[in-house]
Amino acid sequence: MIGMVSLGCPKALVDSERILTRLRAEGYAISPDYIGADAVIVNTCGFLDSAKAESLDAIGEALRENGRVIVTGCLGAEPDYIREHHPKILAVTGPHQYEQVLDAVHLAVPPSPDPFIDLLPASGVSLTPRHYSYLKISEGCNHKCKFCIIPDMRGRLQSRPAHAVLREAEKLVQVGVKELLVISQDTSAYGVDIKHATDRGHRAHITDLARDLGSLGAWVRLHYVYPYPHVRDLIPLMAATSESGGLILPYLDIPFQHAHPDVLKRMARPAAAAKTLDEIAAWRNACPEITLRSTFIVGYPGETEAEFQTLLDWMDEAQLDRVGCFQYENVAGARSNALPDHVADEVKQDRWNRFMEKAQAISEAKLAAKVGQVMQVIVDEVDEDGATCRTKADAPEIDGNLFIDEGFEGLSTGDIVTVEVEEAGEYDLWGRII
Ligand code: SF4
Repeated sequence: MIGMVSLGCPKALVDSERILTRLRAEGYAISPDYIGADAVIVNTCGFLDSAKAESLDAIGEALRENGRVIVTGCLGAEPDYIREHHPKILAVTGPHQYEQVLDAVHLAVPPSPDPFIDLLPASGVSLTPRHYSYLKISEGCNHKCKFCIIPDMRGRLQSRPAHAVLREAEKLVQVGVKELLVISQDTSAYGVDIKHATDRGHRAHITDLARDLGSLGAWVRLHYVYPYPHVRDLIPLMAATSESGGLILPYLDIPFQHAHPDVLKRMARPAAAAKTLDEIAAWRNACPEITLRSTFIVGYPGETEAEFQTLLDWMDEAQLDRVGCFQYENVAGARSNALPDHVADEVKQDRWNRFMEKAQAISEAKLAAKVGQVMQVIVDEVDEDGATCRTKADAPEIDGNLFIDEGFEGLSTGDIVTVEVEEAGEYDLWGRII
């Protein structure tokens, strides 16, 4: 029996799922707790110093509760750092080193002589509820944003062949997945490294892939898209009014990070020169129902009050639907650490408060405008108090919910039903089935 603790982003979750799938295929059983496990794999995150601390704590807890611990994931790229804190771990492997993780498990817990004890479910092991699933289309990144060490940890962009992505997606849909969440470090760059090769009739380009995925009949949601000009070609696949519309959800998760061109340049962001307000206007023009989600960093080294004010003004114009915001933090190994004029903590906090106040007001007004509208929602959970659902505008785990408090008894997880929105809060909606 093997236990697994999975930390970090949705991408790390996909890695955990792959490791568990392989282990199940080899006949290992998966333990839901520390006590029953013969060894525990901790899949770590090393993105921010706070995430590193959380990973070290998780390793410590697994050592205390179980004692036989294998570490993998992003923090695994720094084995000396981990061993310095936890010398008793059995093995450390880096991100995506599936084979090495399996070797470490084989050493710690020799495989069962009968590899067919546990038959592999058709979809592999999914750590997300079965009605939605993350679909990783590439690994790594060709950019060098100064605050980010992912390219150092995960290497350059490596796109999966389009037919392999599609085959995985088809299998997921066959076993009941209703929503596919497309993830990578840079979704709009998909296929650049393999020159957008066509393999078995499928071209490795995000527009083609989105169209192919959209034809499977599940909701398809795109995350981590950069505002390159070709993103405009994706919008007709979303717009209800266009001929090819409705194939993928009218939703784009675009990590803008900032709006001032000088800050973006200091961050070395991809598409830093893009006229983002013009792009947003063009997307909304082609698809008025589009939901835009983004993340931002405030207090980046050298950020002046005027630059921050530009970001606030930009938000007034951009009217993004969903927004996450981080205060800048140094990350060991990131080039931004060496930039001059780091911003004081209290200034970062103040800017974060002002930014979030604005973002919240925009979200509240946008949600209030939805009262009275009729829309489809997907059911995530049903208990005795009601059904927790999401609209097409809400990604799981990061966006809001729509709650149904009455007449929900016949609903099951994964159902897609039509509701009328009756009430709106700052981030969530309430509705009734019609
Ligand atoms: S685009 Fe920038 S932030 Fe995103 S993974 Fe690549 S280097 Fe990191």
